Amino acid sequence: MIRDQPLPYAGRLQPRAPAGVDLVVVHCTELPDLATAREYGERIVHASGTGNSGHYYIDRDGSVLRFVPDDRVAHHVRGHNERSVGIELVNTGRWPDWFDSRRQAMTEPYPDAQVDALLALLAHLRTALPGLQKIAGHEDLDTGLVAASDDASKDVRRKLDPGPMFPWHAIVPACGLERHR
Ligand SMILES: [Zn+2]
Repeated sequence: MIRDQPLPYAGRLQPRAPAGVDLVVVHCTELPDLATAREYGERIVHASGTGNSGHYYIDRDGSVLRFVPDDRVAHHVRGHNERSVGIELVNTGRWPDWFDSRRQAMTEPYPDAQVDALLALLAHLRTALPGLQKIAGHEDLDTGLVAASDDASKDVRRKLDPGPMFPWHAIVPACGLERHR
């Protein structure tokens, strides 16, 4: 069910004890497809020879891939990486004009196959990571602003994922984790 596709630098990410992981952070890729998300994940952007990615990626058809093992710290959310596991849902989001003040709506729905796969992954993770207690959206944890790309006098949110189309009402009661903001 989970396909292991470790990033080339996964072995250089900081090791951690899976028992210390208490938080799931839900993201969307804000990119057109899984192949593009993989390209972004593979990019080296840190001095440690690593990049930014979630642990898990779920495609629109419900395919689940693991880019980073649970016992490594992935760079997916400012300030909460060591304690959390990051799950990225493939979804267009604001791509390709992430910071354009006129293009901030996130309108692509999350298909049932993708939501069902997320619920199955969360059930699996609650067994693999018994310290898990909370679930948050990236938008809940990173509320930073950046100047809009079309008008520097305006600010837009740096992170808005997974956004208003994400079905929290279906996920939270079913997953057994508490929403954390
Ligand atoms: Zn995110």
